[in-house]
Amino acid sequence: MATAPTPPETATQSLQARDNAHYLHPFTDHKDLHGSGARILTKAEGVYHWDSEGNKVLDGLAGLGCVNIGYGRKELPAAAAKAMEELSFCQSFFKSSNTPAIALAETLVGLTPDGLNHAFFSSSGSEANETAVRLALRYWDLEGEPQRQNIIARENAYHGSTMLTANLSGIPPMAFAGTLPFPNVHHIPAPYKYVHAPSMSDADFAKQAAGWLEEKILELGADTVALFIAEPFQGAGGAIIPPDGYWAEIQRICKHYDVLLAVDEVVCGFGRTGHWFGSNAFGIEGMDMMQMAKGITSAYVPLSATMVSDRLAKTLIDKGGEWWHGFTYSGHPVCCAVALENIRILREEGIIDRVREETGPYFAQHIQALADHPLIGNVRSRGLFGGMQLVKDKASGALFGEEEPVGEMVSEAALARGLALRDIGNTNALMPPLIITKDELDFVFDVAKQAFDDVATQLGRM
Ligand code: PLP
Repeated sequence: MATAPTPPETATQSLQARDNAHYLHPFTDHKDLHGSGARILTKAEGVYHWDSEGNKVLDGLAGLGCVNIGYGRKELPAAAAKAMEELSFCQSFFKSSNTPAIALAETLVGLTPDGLNHAFFSSSGSEANETAVRLALRYWDLEGEPQRQNIIARENAYHGSTMLTANLSGIPPMAFAGTLPFPNVHHIPAPYKYVHAPSMSDADFAKQAAGWLEEKILELGADTVALFIAEPFQGAGGAIIPPDGYWAEIQRICKHYDVLLAVDEVVCGFGRTGHWFGSNAFGIEGMDMMQMAKGITSAYVPLSATMVSDRLAKTLIDKGGEWWHGFTYSGHPVCCAVALENIRILREEGIIDRVREETGPYFAQHIQALADHPLIGNVRSRGLFGGMQLVKDKASGALFGEEEPVGEMVSEAALARGLALRDIGNTNALMPPLIITKDELDFVFDVAKQAFDDVATQLGRM
């Protein structure tokens, strides 16, 4: 009997096979990926991307919370090409510098809170955070307090995926993912009111949650603590937005015990909250360092910065001695030129003002309307960032267990309907490009609602 002819491989299948053969993806279950094959993206414009099957998807994730000005702007490649033609690379190690890096440092000093008058450049958020920790330790060493070696971070934090930053991150699986423990890294609980104290008032919970920092400092010994590192709101760890009053209390505690404060603005920075930085939205001032990446170039090229206070920089400069830290690509002229152009667009087109005054409040109204959904126990948002917390039981607020991938089911249902959103454990998160319009937000929330309905129907909850 003749066997049926094998259908010819499609272009997508061929790319998936080549992808599986040689490209190891980050944060991926490789067995699962090899079973399904990757979605291959082929182009992007504005808030949309297209895949190799011709599907058009509204990118409710802005890539990974990074494509702030949207895809396909012509000005950024033009700035990159010009910089590349003029000076394609410049090392900054041996008393060399370059004009785009100098101009970007000045621009960032102008944008960030008072006192952050110095910029150190790297290529990723992880490196910006590594730099903050290494600089804190260097500072205390130069100041004659080398015993200050403890670093405090928070549970559900995400600070990156290098060995140190995976330790700083308070996401349990990261600690077991080929990560050597750093004994000097300690965690306190996140200000996650829905989980820790849903019935407490915001003001009381703010005091309690900030108090966890004070307790940890006292437990370790105040003169052994170098640094507290935290995101203004926690993104990848579950869209955790602290209550009013939390940050004021954290700043008071850091000052009181002279613990340095490093604010991780990798997701919050460059307009996500409707302000230049999450620190502006939450009233965080007088920090010792501020780390930024992603939106600094809208992810057209990789770049990050650690902004440094006068206090720390003065010690480095006055005391001297080589600081053995840096990267080949620190202050890369092409990446700095792209960042300058991106910041010009954010500023001149009023993109951040629009998030604060128009699209952010509209997003908040829409997400609030989902709070009644049978699958959702809590919604929270700030600017154009929001989280929708899934619950197993709406009345008690009980959460789904890790073995119940309901967030992933919602993401898959949304993608099938043309929207990319993210599942972070049992929370689905949205963080669209900052140029999104109200009509596009109507589409986002229509589809999100339909996706929650699809899954609730599958689970017999509707
Ligand atoms: N910090 C925060 C708050 C982040 O969200 C991320 C990445 O998502 C990082 C640090 C790490 O940045 P990168 O992936 O560029 O190393």
